[in-house]
Amino acid sequence: MSLEKFMIMKGRFYDWMKGTVGGGLRLALTGLRNLFFVRECAVCGQGVMPGWPNGSAMTTDGAAMTTHVMPGLTGHLLCEHCLDDLPLTRFWLYSENAAMESLAGCRVHNAASLFFYRHDSPYCEIVRQFKYGRRESLGLWAARLLGRYLAEGGLYTDVQAVVPVPLHPLKRWRRGFNQAEIIARGVAGGLSSRQIGENSGKIPVVPHLLRRRRYTSTQTRRSATSRRSNVSGAFAVNRRELERLQEAGVKHILIVDDVLTTGATLSECIRLLQDHFTVSAATLGFVE
Ligand SMILES: [Zn+2]
Repeated sequence: MSLEKFMIMKGRFYDWMKGTVGGGLRLALTGLRNLFFVRECAVCGQGVMPGWPNGSAMTTDGAAMTTHVMPGLTGHLLCEHCLDDLPLTRFWLYSENAAMESLAGCRVHNAASLFFYRHDSPYCEIVRQFKYGRRESLGLWAARLLGRYLAEGGLYTDVQAVVPVPLHPLKRWRRGFNQAEIIARGVAGGLSSRQIGENSGKIPVVPHLLRRRRYTSTQTRRSATSRRSNVSGAFAVNRRELERLQEAGVKHILIVDDVLTTGATLSECIRLLQDHFTVSAATLGFVE
């Protein structure tokens, strides 16, 4: 078969998949390709070899920290250049920071975000491709990196449970997943791998501690005041889960979401839990 004929057949095969089989199989095949072959850097689109960087090239001293590459954390989904330029907030090192200021209306213990989310920056692609392009592995990877940094900073080492901001069931069904739940899994994994002493062990993700009581329209194009009224009363606490955590002796919980903009959504969630736990918050992106 000539190469030309092969390419035409390949194109037809993809069209057929799109038309008849639907998105599920296509996504599965893309995932398979990303697993075994070259992944695309989420920021610049260049190829990233699986398993980069080679673990043996990493050191465990402070130098590795300053290059943003965590020792032992492989399978990066950004190329070396983009990972090195990732605009990290470093909020996890300080108990007073801009994320804390955004959440000043509630009793938040500590708050941090992984990177600055600037609307004209290509780094927004990390959240966009994860959330709307359904690249769950990208969200999981970024969240794992966030979890590692939270643990390294020392302010989050006594976190005992990670709670995602819930999506309304209808929105979850339409999107196929709750992005905050995936972030929660990644953060819990990153935190667990670095904890030492009496809190070591796997940190549980508690997806049903909070629930959405009503469907809210998107916050994206709303003003700060409008965002607050949009989410006011939108959440409720699941009493059974609350009692279960209290009986298990959980004192410090971490609420996670994708992007911290005005803090309206997170504040609403924190207010519901602040009388029962020490509550901290973490997000992937922070809008300045
Ligand atoms: Zn790149």
